[in-house]
Amino acid sequence: MAPSTLHRVRRSLFSCIVTGALLLGAPLAAQTIDGDPGLAPGIGPWAGAPRGHITAIVPGIDSITIEGVARDPDSARSVNYELLVDGLSVATGATPRPTGFGRTAAFTESVRVNPGLHQVCLRLSDERLGPRTVNCRTAVTAPPDRVDAAVAAAATGVLISPTGVVLPIEGGEPGNWRVTTPCGASRRLSDATVIERARVVIDPGHGGSESGSVSGSLLEKHVNLDVAKRVVSKLESIGVSAQLTRTSDYRLPIKTRADIAAALAPDVFLSLHHNGGATRPSSRPGTEVFYAQGRPESRRLAAIVYEETVAAASGFDAQWVSTVSEGASLRLREDGMDLYGIHRFSPGIDSIITEFLYLSNRSEAALLRRPDVLDAQAQAIVDGILRWWFSNDDGTSRGRQFTDSSSSGTGGFDGCIDPALTPQNPGFSVSRANILTVASGNIPDPSPTRSLLPSFVLASDPALN
Ligand SMILES: [Zn+2]
Repeated sequence: MAPSTLHRVRRSLFSCIVTGALLLGAPLAAQTIDGDPGLAPGIGPWAGAPRGHITAIVPGIDSITIEGVARDPDSARSVNYELLVDGLSVATGATPRPTGFGRTAAFTESVRVNPGLHQVCLRLSDERLGPRTVNCRTAVTAPPDRVDAAVAAAATGVLISPTGVVLPIEGGEPGNWRVTTPCGASRRLSDATVIERARVVIDPGHGGSESGSVSGSLLEKHVNLDVAKRVVSKLESIGVSAQLTRTSDYRLPIKTRADIAAALAPDVFLSLHHNGGATRPSSRPGTEVFYAQGRPESRRLAAIVYEETVAAASGFDAQWVSTVSEGASLRLREDGMDLYGIHRFSPGIDSIITEFLYLSNRSEAALLRRPDVLDAQAQAIVDGILRWWFSNDDGTSRGRQFTDSSSSGTGGFDGCIDPALTPQNPGFSVSRANILTVASGNIPDPSPTRSLLPSFVLASDPALN
């Protein structure tokens, strides 16, 4: 596996925080923890030692607030704690006396840190045995807001339907929202979760009858969703809000994907794909990333994410293939507009499209079946977003700008069938386009195997023939 670039980011941030700590006059003790048994479980000689953990880390712009709990199993005494950020002791204190044996007492500390990613550890002290690190967590400060003011003002939020479908809010009032369905129909929904904003929107390409590139039984739409979920969960685990556009295997036209992004006003709108078509042998992974025209920050993000994902892929062995479009590139239509609707329909948002490896190439498809490879890809995307947020780094890829209007012709509303939005209504909501399709004697696309769609299958999908 590729050495995680996270460590590199962390190391550079570590040097930042050392400098920051010096400037702030913070103590520099305890960089190495002599005699600390680390994250050893509280058994053996440590059986009676205090226990506890970090419960939450709330990000600020240049600070983090750490909340935790602790208890001493053999007494109702208060517990001495110490917090370490990137190996530096930044706060010490004692919890209040718990009210009774076995009860935990909570504590909160706010510490100043340099903006970026940090590792936070909690040490608890036992009079008899000394200090022991009981819990470490990774956390990030609140990333600087890069969203255009007009985009943020126009954001309406999304609903998550009881079946997990993401729906841009058009209007209505709480409990009676009007939303846009994946296929572009307008529906009312009363029972749903509201998400007002997400810093990152991850768009797993294709879905439903649109499989994307194929290698045997391996379909791009499934790989895209797998990696996208990993990216979202990694971002959430360090406190960055992130939202998928597609949460399961259903059709989602490009325009609706962009509407979801517009409704959430993210800093980053990343459409995640795996490529098909190339046959030219290459000495390195043929990853392509596309940025949006006229947006320098989209270009910078694309260059950084390209660099991080290629570095991650290079840790694995395959018979790589590529095309002339490898790198971070700008792809335009003949009329000078962005070729990709993800960019065209998302003005004011820093969108990029990642095409990681060639799924159509058997050797690379074998890698894309491996969870460790998909996880390394997801980690590389997260590392890239963090680097983009917390540095002015330009990345090294200078891809190219080219005009090529050829397209797969997918991603539109034709033949789109909405997934069920509520379990009470297991039928499907039919958009106007579908009614017209059925009325004209054409057959809508079939129900995919793992889907929120109803289980009857009408016929083969005309769009794929
Ligand atoms: Zn694709």
